[in-house]
Amino acid sequence: MEGRPLAERIRAEVADDVRELGEIALATVQVGEDEASTIYLRLKHKAAAEVEISSVDHKLPHAVTEEEVLELLSGLNADEGIDGILVQLPLPDHIDEARVIAAVDPVKDVDGFHPFNAGQLYLGRPTHVPATPLGVMALLAEYRIPLDGARAVVLGRSNIVGKPVAHLLLQAHSTVTICHSHTDDLARETLDADVLVVAAGVPEIVTADMVKSGAAVVDVGINRTEAGIVGDVDPGAAAVAAYLTPVPGGVGPMTIAMLLSNTVRAARFRRRLLAFPLDQR
Ligand code: NAP
Repeated sequence: MEGRPLAERIRAEVADDVRELGEIALATVQVGEDEASTIYLRLKHKAAAEVEISSVDHKLPHAVTEEEVLELLSGLNADEGIDGILVQLPLPDHIDEARVIAAVDPVKDVDGFHPFNAGQLYLGRPTHVPATPLGVMALLAEYRIPLDGARAVVLGRSNIVGKPVAHLLLQAHSTVTICHSHTDDLARETLDADVLVVAAGVPEIVTADMVKSGAAVVDVGINRTEAGIVGDVDPGAAAVAAYLTPVPGGVGPMTIAMLLSNTVRAARFRRRLLAFPLDQR
């Protein structure tokens, strides 16, 4: 299950949408100098530029106060020229991540992390949905993996990947099991999966003997090791699975493509081309 060709197509569609909609702008906020965050943000800005979404990068020093971050967000919320806002996580320990996420205007929340958007997803009314889970679902659709009635197992329960993927699979009528670090016998669960989505952040936590024959396996993991970047699934699982996403080149490119697509969606909400549920005007 290759991510790059589909991601390319989605980016081309986004470029067409941007031409049609006119000026679209994304603001990103980074606090401190986390190396992985800096790399991800560089990729996001480069991808935005390629589809002619203009982007502004707000880099704040590690020592910035929570109030200062909230002030910046309040300015970006009020700025009519900004369609999407993304706060790169993680934030330093002295800043309350939940408070910062809740301070982003839900209509501009292209990461889909705001409690309103998370709640919408929980209620089965996806509004702004996090990019990585959307990318996973787009890949499964592209490869025509049957989801209705399928047994889907999600390994990981983060708010960013595991939980939203599980909700999207549930909405696609899969029977969903969510596993985490307290799951008693992982293999017992994973061996049952027609669709297995792995987002644990543990190199090769899923080995070939944990995969059902003919399963579709989506490896979300990105782990930096001495051997380079590896996923959460042993590549040997490809011998058992019908489909396995590569790392790199699987979910990673899809995440960036879906972030761009979410930014266009935010622009549509803001231009009233799509109804935003909170919009009373
Ligand atoms: P996270 O917040 O650290 O969550 C990891 C989840 O995995 C948690 O729910 C944790 O369980 C579970 N887990 C950890 N170790 C486990 C174990 N030994 N057995 C069973 N479950 C275990 O990570 P995340 O943000 O969801 O990211 C997961 C991975 O995806 C990371 O490698 C990250 O780099 C990658 N990622 C990739 C993309 C992309 O674009 N490809 C995007 C986002 C993230 P508990 O809840 O019990 O702690």
